[in-house]
Amino acid sequence: MNPRFSAVTLQLPHWLESELPAADHIFATPEDRMGLVLRLASLNIKHQTGGPFSAAVFDLESGTLIAPGVNIVVASHASIAHAEMVAVSMAQRSLLTHDLGSLGNSGTQLVTSVAPCAMCLGAVPWSGVRSLICGAREEDANAIGFDEGSKPTDWVAQLETRGITVQNDLMRDAAANVLKTYKESGGAIYNGRSPN
Ligand SMILES: [Zn+2]
Repeated sequence: MNPRFSAVTLQLPHWLESELPAADHIFATPEDRMGLVLRLASLNIKHQTGGPFSAAVFDLESGTLIAPGVNIVVASHASIAHAEMVAVSMAQRSLLTHDLGSLGNSGTQLVTSVAPCAMCLGAVPWSGVRSLICGAREEDANAIGFDEGSKPTDWVAQLETRGITVQNDLMRDAAANVLKTYKESGGAIYNGRSPN
């Protein structure tokens, strides 16, 4: 096999691990969990390692962190490397399962700094998470030039039909401010429509 085709690697930035607390740290509240996610998004901007987006998968009941993710699209040469996809992939790799709902525990929760784009929304039911918490809205990302794609207007109800609870607008102002900081810092806006 041509080695160029042998593997696709998603690698978290080197700075990230040192920013995490001990593995048994409890993120007790939704705000605690979003606080970590927004801090990682800000650090991703500061270190210039990707777009202004972060996400993490937690054990829904205990509040322990299963895996973090940040946007690493540009560095990975991978349009799929949105924060949610990275966090879910890291969690699945960590737990050695493709289904985060299969472990018989209390379930898993995906917390994301911005409501999922069309791609990541589609990935949520496949991931096996049972809960989704979002910070900024898609219009906050669109406002700085990103394009979140076409989503059903009733996407929240559609997820809840599949047994996935959704909480929107958690710490939205702080989450939207992360996006504004990125824009003001001159960060790249990429939508797969180069050269426009
Ligand atoms: Zn996405």
